Amino acid sequence: MSKILYSKIIPPKGFVAINLFGLIVVRKGFMLTKTSLNHEKIHTRQMIEMLFLLFYLWYVIEYLIRLIQYKGAFLEAYRNISFEREAYAMQNDLQYIKRRKTWAWRFFL
Ligand SMILES: [Zn+2]
Repeated sequence: MSKILYSKIIPPKGFVAINLFGLIVVRKGFMLTKTSLNHEKIHTRQMIEMLFLLFYLWYVIEYLIRLIQYKGAFLEAYRNISFEREAYAMQNDLQYIKRRKTWAWRFFL
């Protein structure tokens, strides 16, 4: 079971949920769909296998690289971080977590 917390300020406007070290924070007034919850669960798996800190480090570095690649288009840069590519590509498959291989995000690099 994933722990879900509701907040007025986290995540910033325009986002519905953020995963902080496996704790899913949802913006007040929003509901997580099964798909969004699955998206966040995929992130939790990615975090665990990268011992959390390495996940965030890689996330930020890849984001900066994608920002350059996509010429400052921040939303496009974010969507193309390999962790996000995996989560967005597989979020509709609610059984994915069960058969997902360790470090599967690397196939989305
Ligand atoms: Zn995500």
